[in-house]
Amino acid sequence: MKCRKCSQKAVIKIYQHNLPLCKEHFLEFEEERVRKAIQDFQMIERKEKLLVVVSGGKDSLSVAYMLKKMGYTVHLLHINLGIGKYSLLSQEKCEKFSSQHSLPLTVISLVEEWGKGIGELAHSTYKSTCSLCGMVKRYYFNKFAYENGFDAVVTGHNLDDMTSALLANILGWRISYMVKQTPVLREEGKLKKKVKPLIYLTERETAAYAFLSSIDYIREECPFSANSTFLKVKHALNEIEKESPGTKFSFYRGLLKNLHLFKEKEKKPLLRECAICGFPTIMEVCSFCKTLRKEEVKKYASHL
Ligand code: SF4
Ligand code: ZN
Ligand code: ZN
Repeated sequence: MKCRKCSQKAVIKIYQHNLPLCKEHFLEFEEERVRKAIQDFQMIERKEKLLVVVSGGKDSLSVAYMLKKMGYTVHLLHINLGIGKYSLLSQEKCEKFSSQHSLPLTVISLVEEWGKGIGELAHSTYKSTCSLCGMVKRYYFNKFAYENGFDAVVTGHNLDDMTSALLANILGWRISYMVKQTPVLREEGKLKKKVKPLIYLTERETAAYAFLSSIDYIREECPFSANSTFLKVKHALNEIEKESPGTKFSFYRGLLKNLHLFKEKEKKPLLRECAICGFPTIMEVCSFCKTLRKEEVKKYASHL
């Protein structure tokens, strides 16, 4: 198999475009796709300060690497979830990446903040680990970005993440979640802008990009992901994509095209400031404070 652009030996074929590419042209192609996504959705501007949240995995480290290469100002944020060996290794990969690429890194440790890792926190608050984890991460990403003057929070969500979340949301008809699955969520008061520059890239492509760029990332999956519905949906979509390459892309593009239909049905809730922490919420007290600052919430309620 030869590279379509230069006739050297191809290292990968991008099935969706029926395009075999050598290492050099593959890396160039992927970076071009990210530039296009940034442009298509007016995600970020050159002068903006970007907070890239990194888990130590291929996607988040690749997006940080690409944005730095493109000349953006990047700061890394890692949340150590306190999941034993997995979290130690994740943090190690982020630290190694930060020093190799001279990018500043901030680590927030749940054990230091709350005395417990995400598993124990979920157990003591009667929440499912993954839903608590998602909520805690979103809260810290936004809070850190807001308090430290960043213009946007950048995540490494790829096309597989977006389409599997979309299918899972359709299966449960969670329209309020679907309308938030856009490549950009604009700033709104204390809610900072959130962008996903990898939305045109599949997981297979980000893995190949990280490998071919010598990015050392964590290969292990989080132990809590083993039975997740999300992964099952991801596998199912991979089977469909194998038969009909391009399905994921057109599925996601379809959401963006038809978003207005769902937005009409789904009224945007009014945001107010949480009575405890002051960050935006649709209730009097945000879910983060309700779950993790129970004592303060009780005190607040007793003074009403
Ligand atoms: Fe968090 Fe692990 Fe669940 Fe992902 S799988 S949401 S990292 S607990
Ligand atoms: Zn080539
Ligand atoms: Zn709050």
